[in-house]
Amino acid sequence: MVVGAAVVVATAVVVGAVVVVGAEEGDDELHAAAISAVVIRVAIINRRLFKRDLMVVTLCEAFGMRIIRLHVGRKSDSCQHRVVETVKVTFVIEDAMPNRWVGPDITPKLLELASTGGRCEAGGQAVMSSATYPNHASFITGLRPIDHGVMVNRVWTGGEFVGSESIGPIGETIFEAARRAGMSTAALLGDHKLVGVTGAHVADVHWPPEGVRPDVELDEFRYALNQAVIDAYDAHHPGPGAVDLTVVHFNDPDTACHLHGPDSPEARERMRLTDSDLGQLLERLRPEWEDTVVIVVSDHDQETVWGEGFDLAEEFSRKGLPGIVEPEGTCALIIDGPDTATLMGLDGVDGALVLDSTSTLVWGPEGQVFGQWYDFLHGAHGGPRCREQVAVVGGGHPVVAELADALNHRRPSAVDWAPTIADLCGFDLSGATGRSLLSRSALVNRPAASPEE
Ligand SMILES: [Zn+2]
Repeated sequence: MVVGAAVVVATAVVVGAVVVVGAEEGDDELHAAAISAVVIRVAIINRRLFKRDLMVVTLCEAFGMRIIRLHVGRKSDSCQHRVVETVKVTFVIEDAMPNRWVGPDITPKLLELASTGGRCEAGGQAVMSSATYPNHASFITGLRPIDHGVMVNRVWTGGEFVGSESIGPIGETIFEAARRAGMSTAALLGDHKLVGVTGAHVADVHWPPEGVRPDVELDEFRYALNQAVIDAYDAHHPGPGAVDLTVVHFNDPDTACHLHGPDSPEARERMRLTDSDLGQLLERLRPEWEDTVVIVVSDHDQETVWGEGFDLAEEFSRKGLPGIVEPEGTCALIIDGPDTATLMGLDGVDGALVLDSTSTLVWGPEGQVFGQWYDFLHGAHGGPRCREQVAVVGGGHPVVAELADALNHRRPSAVDWAPTIADLCGFDLSGATGRSLLSRSALVNRPAASPEE
């Protein structure tokens, strides 16, 4: 080997951890080639190792094998460094998929994925309000609603409420952070407004373009059907090996739960079909499975609703109370309203949560929605009863075991996925306030977690 003495010292660590995929047992020539390549590679990246505690090393095709997986360890008194090869992350959101309906009858593909990794059986936790856009903004920034500004689906500008898709979240998104680190991203989103809500136009590939409702088959609420999202993946995604981070949103369960109720046979059938759609997506990842980490979540649950909408603005007006009311399903956001004691004394208010000096969320008894009532409505969300999220990890990459182990010990919040993805891909998202699921391990790329930075 033509290597310097300093590198040879590191070689002992490298050799012990090398895994050669595709090599025959006892194929000495192939193993020797792999080890030499690793040493040279380490020498090349050595300078960068001191700067970052997560490095990406990929050795492909050079020795007639598909890929070499390796972990390079270097322990010091203060910090452990590790090098892993390319990680390709696919983050899937199944909108409103109830964690309580995850099971062999309805979600066999999801459970098959979980069998390659793991699942938080108690489920993840939505941020409040348990609406779609606040949680997607948290998924993508690792920030709470009071930080990214999307507390309900529409954002208060100081003078009016406007759709959060026209503003986007405050704070850096995983699309921006990945781009800054020279990584590639893609977003294929069944709810076209999520392009604006998540700032996905920054991604190298985003669909539908500019968040305009696409000319594809739409569901009852005029969102793209899951199949259209998969067709868009086939048409626009450059392939699982070519993109570092892919975000996919399947909308179908949300529409079905709103129309039929989350526990209805009709909704469960749409969940079953969505699981089959997930299976189709996973098939597309198979060629790069050894590099792949798949995370599947839902953004919120739904609850069965009935009766009429509760008009809190009318109640304020009747009692001469101040405040601007924005209904959001089974909760409502109040701007510059009464204190919580006053709110809790009102009919139709069972709970209140102060978000900041101007904003308070309230929710009511089971079955009650705020604002306008629609006769077709049988399911809704927004309040604390709908916070449970699906939380599943899988894939062929060795780091999946670490993620799965973390899910055995804690319930992830919606804000935890962005820093987890940042750690997996190896880019910095230091502004996030969520906690990476890899924070217990050395596979951390966040400055706060590394005493050397
Ligand atoms: Zn949703």
